Amino acid sequence: MSHPSRPDSARADRIVPGVWRLRLPLPWAATPHGNAYAVSAGDGVVLFDTGYGGSEGIDQLELGLKLAGFRLDDVKMIACTHAHADHYGCAATIVERVGCPLWIHPAWGHVRTSATDPEGALEARLDAARLNGVPEPIVEQMAEMRRSMESGFDGAIGPDVELVDGVEVETDLGTWRTHEAPGHAPSHVVFHLPERQILLSGDQIVGRVFLYFDQGHTPDPVGEFLTSLDAVDSLGSRLCLSGHGRPFRDIPRKTEANREQVGRQLDGVRAALADGPRTPFEIISAGAGTDSPEPQVVGYGLEMTLAYLTHLERLGEALKLDDAPATWGLTN
Ligand SMILES: [Zn+2]
Ligand SMILES: [Zn+2]
Repeated sequence: MSHPSRPDSARADRIVPGVWRLRLPLPWAATPHGNAYAVSAGDGVVLFDTGYGGSEGIDQLELGLKLAGFRLDDVKMIACTHAHADHYGCAATIVERVGCPLWIHPAWGHVRTSATDPEGALEARLDAARLNGVPEPIVEQMAEMRRSMESGFDGAIGPDVELVDGVEVETDLGTWRTHEAPGHAPSHVVFHLPERQILLSGDQIVGRVFLYFDQGHTPDPVGEFLTSLDAVDSLGSRLCLSGHGRPFRDIPRKTEANREQVGRQLDGVRAALADGPRTPFEIISAGAGTDSPEPQVVGYGLEMTLAYLTHLERLGEALKLDDAPATWGLTN
């Protein structure tokens, strides 16, 4: 998660004529690559997602585009699946250099503080960790690891066009339709190309099931994510171009695997509270879905645990009993 250097450099694969997957390096050991997609549109391309920003981001993106036969100037517009650093991080630099419009969901502001004031955002995360029972030595390790990495955001810019339900993105392959799919992030959307049954899924479903809920901005990210899985199923796509990993075809199996994983982790959180009230940190293994969360995944585990607790609260199964430190219990 905290690996400071990027293991390799950009690659470009043509998926179908007119669609290139740009596989871009990420500074995270657990997720070493992310995808952007360049899709032919007139005399240039629509760029779906941008890769991670920071000191190497734009160079890696330019390399990926070059391998696909394009230059940065060929980008006619950016359409982001969501505002996380690995999908939106380079947007500000591209807009500044090329002058193209940015299309993104209006709820992109969940990353504003991380993008404009990373130290402030980190302090807020560390305060939240303490409140949720994380011991001070681990809080300090979290701070050290985060400070050794770039934020991955080249700037905080909002949409020229707001990607809400039904907004259409024109390409040479046809018209992609936007579907809001919150849960992984409040700003998450997927793009569907009905005439070819292609889904561009961002992080809603990815090659290898990997759950993350950007919690604290909406009432129930887990519930929203489950609803978004249903929305993806109803599109009936046959080929998925996802935010990480290779393209895949069996979309219903993937959505089901995501539901099962959410179900298992919710059961784990229920079981972890069965013997009495606990702080989120005390049940972090259940929330993170790992046996022994290493310090580098405490931040991730805490977000996941809080998202599951919030979902159980919405279901009437759990509630917060105390505030400092936060302590949660089952309702019966
Ligand atoms: Zn994401
Ligand atoms: Zn991602």
